[in-house]
This record gives sequence, C-alpha cells and structure tokens, in this order.
Amino acid sequence: MVHNCVFCRIVAGELPSTKLYQDDLVTAFRDIHPVAPTHILIVPNRHMNSVNDVLPEDEPALGRMFVIARHLAEAEGISQLGYRLTINSGSHAGQVVFHLHMHLMGGQRMRHPLG
Ligand code: 5GP
Ligand code: ZN
Repeated sequence: MVHNCVFCRIVAGELPSTKLYQDDLVTAFRDIHPVAPTHILIVPNRHMNSVNDVLPEDEPALGRMFVIARHLAEAEGISQLGYRLTINSGSHAGQVVFHLHMHLMGGQRMRHPLG
C-alpha cells in the first residue's frame, strides 16, 4: 500500500468512507463529492496510479470491478434506466486521485461526455 494515497488508506480502513463492498481484490465506496444521485467509486485494492500501470496480472481485479459495478447498479436501482462507468487516466482526462478508480454514476439523465 502507498501510505500517502487516500484510496489505499480507505481500502486499509485507515480513512473513513461509506464502504459498500470489499473483497480480496476490490473495494467500493461512495464518492465524497457526488455529481449524481448515485456516485460510487470502485477501486482495485492493489495500488496502481492509473491505467498506465495496469499489468496482465491485474485482469482478475479489473474484471471484478465490472462485476461489482453491475451488482451495485442493481442494488442502487439504476440498472434499467442506465448509468455511466468512467475511468479518468491522467491529467488531460481530469484524474485527480492517482489510484486507479472506476466511477459508477447514475440516478439522473447525464449530459453525454462527448457532447
Ligand atoms: P478523478 O477526477 O481522479 O477521476 O476522481 C476522483 C474522485 O475521488 C472525485 O470524484 C472525488 O470527489 C473523490 N474523492 C477524493 N477524495 C476522496 C475521499 O477522501 N473520499 C471519497 N469517498 N472520495 C474522494
Ligand atoms: Zn493507492
């Protein structure tokens, strides 16, 4: 774990969060500044700065993130009307926290990110 990484510290339980799910590979918790009625972050437990650091051995964790996204979307009641999964990688994409994370956002109609 990276000790000055906020998401590593949430995964480790050193920082408070509204944790919705955790297993040996991934952790999901509510975004502290939600931009939609449902805004959940799903992260691999292993620290990786961004998609640039993804390795072949991360495939189980990255696959698990989609399975958990599916389950959480169902639990939040947004799976039928729809939701968005976003991974920002690097500064041009607006990544602020450099521990790879997937945003699960829904509960309202969202503007299309590509205009
Ligand atoms: P990024 O722009 O890096 O893709 O998104 C980072 C997200 O992490 C933002 O939506 C921000 O609100 C969220 N965030 C930053 N710090 C914390 C924190 O300490 N706890 C939680 N739950 N979310 C955080
Ligand atoms: Zn980290």
